[in-house]
Amino acid sequence: MIGRVGFIGLGHMGGPMCANLARAGFDVSAYDLDPDALARAADAGARPAASVRECARGIEALITMLPAPPQVESVLLGDDGAISELEPGALSIDMSTSSWAVGQRVVDAAVQRRLEVLDAPVAGHPRRAQEGALGIYAGGREVAFERARPLFEAMGDPGRIFHVGPHGAGYTVKLMLNLLWFIQSVATGEVLTVGARAGVPIEKLHAALVASPANTNFLEHDVRAVLDEGDYDEVFPLRLVTKDLGLAVDLARDVGVPVELTALVEQVHRRARAAYGDAGGQISAIRLYEDLAGLKLRLGPAA
Ligand code: NAD
Repeated sequence: MIGRVGFIGLGHMGGPMCANLARAGFDVSAYDLDPDALARAADAGARPAASVRECARGIEALITMLPAPPQVESVLLGDDGAISELEPGALSIDMSTSSWAVGQRVVDAAVQRRLEVLDAPVAGHPRRAQEGALGIYAGGREVAFERARPLFEAMGDPGRIFHVGPHGAGYTVKLMLNLLWFIQSVATGEVLTVGARAGVPIEKLHAALVASPANTNFLEHDVRAVLDEGDYDEVFPLRLVTKDLGLAVDLARDVGVPVELTALVEQVHRRARAAYGDAGGQISAIRLYEDLAGLKLRLGPAA
């Protein structure tokens, strides 16, 4: 049974995930470059560490929740990286949305030190992280997944915690999930803008499409943030959206599948990032269409 856990990367997602582990009774050491994030983790019951290596010392499982592959590689495999500090038998679980390539280098280094590795990225907003209701998609050995299950259940919704295959499978599922969502965001923005520009009231257009065979979860629920509030959802910023889409294109190239649509959709979101900045919200592709057409897609009085 795992009792001592290290957690590195205490941002929008990692902060509440770490807090939930401490609340569930795990003995958690925590580290982040940002002293404020570290202080919040201490308030939530974790022990603040002064470095990656101090955080990884003497623990049974290490969780990383970092922005992108370069940070994952430097924290786990860099000169002062965690992998060389972990004791044989320990488990290293990367829950960031990262790449196969870095994941494979981590596995190679971990095997030499007799460590277990899982890639286990998550789905859900920071609010879901706070509620301990994330979706979790784990790749790696099933025995390692079962060992990690109590940790996952402290952070995720037990009905949405999946072992999805060997090393790298978790990253793949997460990247494909995001890709489908970001394709739907562009498709929905395009469809609603053309329909509205052609003169159909947005309420009637939206209601008719939701009741049609073309309905999607994005159309029925997620786009309502824009339609109801003009909220482009900044909790997941465009810098991370374009990172994930870049990783999806890389993955498709690595496995030899031509993905014309994915490449185009990636560029639309990159255009949104150029227009609205790194911190722009994840649904900002729809704002591009609004600006192009000179209208606002709103259901209520804000229209
Ligand atoms: P974030 O930028 O809020 O947090 C990242 C944290 O990592 C920051 O606190 C930063 O200081 C820390 N960090 C960066 N480099 C470090 C290093 N070398 N050593 C120690 N700490 C370091 O990001 P986030 O929104 O929490 O996302 C984390 C991961 O989860 C990303 O891969 C993201 O794609 C994924 N994700 C995010 C969301 C979301 O809604 N925000 C949802 C699902 C998945």
